[in-house]
Amino acid sequence: MDPSTDTTTIIQNVAYLVASVLFIRGLKGLTHPRTAVRGNLMGSLAMLIAIVATLWGGGVVSWTWIVVGLALGSVVGLVMALKVPMTGMPQMVAIFNGLGGAASFLVAGAELTIVMAAVHVTGEAAEASESATHVGLSTQLLVATALSGLIGAVTLTGSLIAFAKLAEMKITIGGKKYWMSSSICLPGRHAINLFTALAAVGLCAAVVMNPTTAMWYWLLVIVAAALGVLITLSIGGADMPVVIALLNSYSGLAACATGFVINNNVLIVAGSLVGASGLILTGIMCKAMNRSLANVMFATMGASSSDGPSADDVYEGKVKSTSADEIAMLLEDAQRVMIVPGYGMAVSQAQHTVRDLANVLEARGTTVEFAIHPVAGRMPGHMNVLLAEADVPYDKLLEMDAVNPTLDTVDVALVIGANDVVNPVALTDPDSPIAGMPIIEINKSRTVVVIKRSLSPGFAGIPNPLFAEDKTLMFFNDGKKAFMELIAAVKEL
Ligand code: NDP
Repeated sequence: MDPSTDTTTIIQNVAYLVASVLFIRGLKGLTHPRTAVRGNLMGSLAMLIAIVATLWGGGVVSWTWIVVGLALGSVVGLVMALKVPMTGMPQMVAIFNGLGGAASFLVAGAELTIVMAAVHVTGEAAEASESATHVGLSTQLLVATALSGLIGAVTLTGSLIAFAKLAEMKITIGGKKYWMSSSICLPGRHAINLFTALAAVGLCAAVVMNPTTAMWYWLLVIVAAALGVLITLSIGGADMPVVIALLNSYSGLAACATGFVINNNVLIVAGSLVGASGLILTGIMCKAMNRSLANVMFATMGASSSDGPSADDVYEGKVKSTSADEIAMLLEDAQRVMIVPGYGMAVSQAQHTVRDLANVLEARGTTVEFAIHPVAGRMPGHMNVLLAEADVPYDKLLEMDAVNPTLDTVDVALVIGANDVVNPVALTDPDSPIAGMPIIEINKSRTVVVIKRSLSPGFAGIPNPLFAEDKTLMFFNDGKKAFMELIAAVKEL
């Protein structure tokens, strides 16, 4: 019977169609915090339908392995969801991207091996190439297999390096210690990268032109894995948001290619959705960090954080510290207060306390708003998620482009745990690692209060002259404790 009219195939394809629609509706839901939870549930339901339809459609070789895999994956997923703190989310996303890439190239490799075995059973060695086409190794399938191996392996190792950078790990090369979050440039890296990329492309061609052996495929996977390491290693930590978004897109493209290899429609649709949405997110992040996509793809950016003036040069004798009582007095006279949250708010889990202070001030007639930078924190939308969790109304969260032109009417700005996203050197020093990154221009406000524990740098590892400006007061404290003290001081007035 024609497989396309087989009842099982028809029902399976209808289920895949329902899952695809749910994936698209789920993505739409994720575009706004109000509908994000529903969007997430829709995506999960779509995935459940896709898995059930695939298993029900037949072709299962071993239920034991599938049940073991599902149980293991569910336990690991559950433990990670419960244990990983909000601040560890970007690392978790990096690992998920990498595992997606690995799953894609392993499935494509397994399919190639199975078809190859069939080729050798059905064809004589001399006619193997012809038999290969006969058994099902069409050129399209071989191209999809090669792409799956290439993109999947780059995604796996690129994501592992991104993980190490985000987790701020250290490595030793030739007896020298390097912080992974800085940009690690091997001597002659451009030539090495180019050579490895060309070798990978050549191996893709070898996979397509030699459908009689899986050797070229696994060689391609090894070279692509090396390419993933080389590309990501040289990218500075401050550019990681763009890299994560791009790797997310790659994991979708690898899954899409594997969908063609195993002829699975829902994998093709879901992979394309991840690939496209990841690419759109990459575009948004590129804009937020002032990087072109070509710049990200070829990893030519990311200067070492050891460049530029030292912290002593920037801060010595210029930093003024303050207390909760002094800030409370400033707040008493303020009509418009702007809160600028950053990574430190996430670390100290201060979002609920921040909201409490905003409520106290608003009850006294002060206008309180939040200025949100697109790459504040450690993942896209990090601040929005935290503040939504604390029930801060969405209309109080102002985007950087909207808020910047209005900052000169702000009486007191409270910067909590933000550093790079308010660092004016991004606009003034073309040699800085964050040069050209749009910032929240909070130094236009009348008074700036920065709440953080010390003068330590942020993710980009550079000093921030904002802390030494005349109008800036530093309140050295943990974010949450500082806001608790502020609430008490304001209430005492
Ligand atoms: P930064 O990383 O620039 O600075 C965070 C600051 O928070 C530090 O200077 C630290 O200072 C302070 N801090 C840490 N813990 C606490 C605490 N418990 N209480 C108070 N303060 C604390 O954060 P930003 O949000 O300004 O910038 C984000 C950076 O991360 C950018 O460089 C961005 O490119 C990068 N990035 C962003 C991603 C994203 O998608 N959003 C992903 C990956 C990287 P101290 O130790 O003195 O307290």
